[in-house]
Amino acid sequence: MNLSRFPRRRYTEGATPLEPLPRFSAALAASCPGGRGPEVWVKRDDLLGLFPGGNKTRKLEFLVADALAQGADTLVTCGAPQSNHCRITLAAAVKEGLKCRFVIEERVPGSFDPNGGGNHFMFLLLGVEAITVVTAGSDMAVAMRKVADEIAAAGRKAYVIPGGGSNALGGLGYVACAQELQQQCFERGLQFDRVVVGSGSSGTHGGLVAGFIGGNVATPIVGIGVSRDPADQEPLVHREAQAVLDLLGVRLTVPREAVVTVGGYWQPKYSLPNAPMVEAVQMLARSEGLLLDPVYTGKAMAGLIGLARAGTLRPDERVLFLHTGGLPSLFVYQDVALGETPVG
Ligand SMILES: *Cc1c(COP(=O)(O)O)cnc(C)c1O
Repeated sequence: MNLSRFPRRRYTEGATPLEPLPRFSAALAASCPGGRGPEVWVKRDDLLGLFPGGNKTRKLEFLVADALAQGADTLVTCGAPQSNHCRITLAAAVKEGLKCRFVIEERVPGSFDPNGGGNHFMFLLLGVEAITVVTAGSDMAVAMRKVADEIAAAGRKAYVIPGGGSNALGGLGYVACAQELQQQCFERGLQFDRVVVGSGSSGTHGGLVAGFIGGNVATPIVGIGVSRDPADQEPLVHREAQAVLDLLGVRLTVPREAVVTVGGYWQPKYSLPNAPMVEAVQMLARSEGLLLDPVYTGKAMAGLIGLARAGTLRPDERVLFLHTGGLPSLFVYQDVALGETPVG
């Protein structure tokens, strides 16, 4: 696959680390049937650029390059009140000398706090130009178009980035990640039996699926839904993966069965804590000094732990967990992460 014909900005020096998690793997095994569990590794996409970076950094390398090519002076995007995507988009805008505006969807009613910490604090510190708050279920594309029209009326030019940066162009970021991973495995003589990743707006999971298919990598990918069960999530990821291959001009069809997600770990609702997430956050912090976030990677790792205990991830497997970032929101869930606020 030839990514080089797409303009790209570079926000990270080199490849993200690929690390074994021996102490976590041992702790996990001790809680698995027969005391045996998979060998778990992590790819540190939480160390991507635009610090503290995350999966959105990779997507934005292509999206922002396109915005610049089109002569835009303002990025417009959307997300939840603690959106990592909004914060990283804003950081990219600052770095490129662009302005940035958000439409924030109050997915959990009352959750937008104008004095909030975590990502919201960073929105203000990094100098967001304007935030429009809309109610849950609003049409985000329409709301962003309205903001773009206001910008145009002021004689400026907006570039609209969809939620999570998950369109075909953004998905190229995870084709690049798939290529980077393939190269790392080649150089280190490593093979993985499975990749586990959080699956939300679908660009990360879908981009990886496209990258693996286009690169002829047979390793199965399991997405842990962070906001939807498989019946809703899998078609979304499947469409994204196909759109990415189509954009690349790869004449392959994404088999429906190449897209596998697991539900049951995101409840009670997107972004609201549950007990398996708290266990995962504490386990990784205390076994490896690795910080997960409560909204995405905590729930995704809870899924990995659950699949290992159920024997779906077998003891003889080497499993790669993709750490997609999200650190700032940990600081608005301190009591929950420490187990001081009970959750279901
Ligand atoms: C956005 C996000 C995800 C989900 O990725 P998608 O590409 O939206 O599916 C996972 N982890 C973190 C930390 C995120 O910010």
